[in-house]
Amino acid sequence: MDEEPRALEQLQRCAKRAGLPWRAWTCLEGLSEVSGSEDLLVALRALRDDPREEVVLLRGVDHELQRPEVLRALREHAHAGGGRVLLLAGREDTAPAALEPEVGHLVQAPPSRAEVGEVLCGYLLELGAPSRERLNQLTSLAAGLPLYRVRRICERVLATKGDLASLHDALLVARKEAVREVGVLELIAPLPSLEDIGGLEGLKEWVRERRELFSHEIVAAGLPVPRGILLMGVSGCGKSLAAKACASLWELPLYRLDMNLVFSGLHGSPEAAFHRALATLEAAAPLVLWIDELENGLGSTTAGIEAPQHLFSAFLTWLQEKPPLVFVAATANRIELLPAEVLRKGRFDQVFFLDLPSEDERRAILQIHLARHGVEVAPATLDYLVYDTRGWSGAELEQVVIAALVHARAHGRDVMGEDLIHSVQGSVPLSRTMHEQIRALREWAYGRAAPASRDTPSPVEGEGRTA
Ligand code: ATP
Repeated sequence: MDEEPRALEQLQRCAKRAGLPWRAWTCLEGLSEVSGSEDLLVALRALRDDPREEVVLLRGVDHELQRPEVLRALREHAHAGGGRVLLLAGREDTAPAALEPEVGHLVQAPPSRAEVGEVLCGYLLELGAPSRERLNQLTSLAAGLPLYRVRRICERVLATKGDLASLHDALLVARKEAVREVGVLELIAPLPSLEDIGGLEGLKEWVRERRELFSHEIVAAGLPVPRGILLMGVSGCGKSLAAKACASLWELPLYRLDMNLVFSGLHGSPEAAFHRALATLEAAAPLVLWIDELENGLGSTTAGIEAPQHLFSAFLTWLQEKPPLVFVAATANRIELLPAEVLRKGRFDQVFFLDLPSEDERRAILQIHLARHGVEVAPATLDYLVYDTRGWSGAELEQVVIAALVHARAHGRDVMGEDLIHSVQGSVPLSRTMHEQIRALREWAYGRAAPASRDTPSPVEGEGRTA
């Protein structure tokens, strides 16, 4: 249990509401009214001999549960019935298998936005009045963190005479750590902007138009909130980039869920890992959830292991009923591996197909990557590069610039036009060897997915069009 004081308070409140007296046991204090009860067995014996209606919380029992006589006493208590509620507080996996039939599990939900917001507000005035957006950002970062951790961070920032920006950075670090602990989630930051994407104007417009629609106000007004998009298409054509840029434009945190890790068993049973991830996400909403290579998680995994059917169904149900302010941006390369149910209406607002970039898009992508590295080229060289890279993906165009940079640095000079031209001439784009797969993808997408671009895509071998 991550937040014992908070859990204690919540349980005490429940006991009070049920009109039951409350006692707690710890190995240091023992149980009140029972001398020598620092030994849990003594306490359990005293409870057995004194049947009364009450709630007794046994705190920090992880090690005690390795004692067979303690397990025996707990089982006897469960079988005896009566009006006493015995609560065991420990880590999530505290209850040993031997107790399984007798115990029910209470998993503590992470603090809500309202709880976290209340804690933050207690400190914010001293740090400078934040704008509404800033307050939302800070609350999103802190939501789901244990409250004691949020307090400690705020106090540290105050003690070091920090400001709102330092509070943001400190919360971001804590948030990243907390998310890493979940094992199958990652908080992605910093994020690129829509301006970092060349082309894909249809997709950009869709994202821009919905910017105002993804908010608490829209939910409160009972209006429909964007649910999610599925980005499918040719490898390296900007699917992941688009998912990131969407979060950036909407000024929301981006979480990446690794379905392969969920199924791997490296972070507990797939069910536990999945539900832990969902609880973390639900507490941290509003956010964009990026599920990369959805087909690997839901079709077959890279290791060739089928996703368990019940988990697959649980995922689909979640997708249908998920909290409104979790926007899913899923990406997929091999659409044929995706079960048909995933594509059924109501799960995603739109399926976008990201194809090989058109001539204008290749120009825009090259310009973005050249500018990023401070490389200037003559217009004629750029024209040549754009013409000679028909059928190249955005990732391959980026590599053209990087390879030229590496070559020029190795020779101790700045990049010249020839370096870029050599870089193009020395590489073979994937579309040349994968033209059949790309044609099949295009056929699949026709009529099923919206083109992310407004242009005619670059042709591949066996196709007549030019772009
Ligand atoms: P994969 O399916 O192989 O994971 P992807 O479609 O998700 O690929 P990204 O990972 O988004 O492709 O692209 C890889 C890199 O290529 C990006 O980080 C970016 O630098 C560059 N890139 C791809 N498309 C574009 C684009 N339209 N504009 C600018 N850069 C791009």
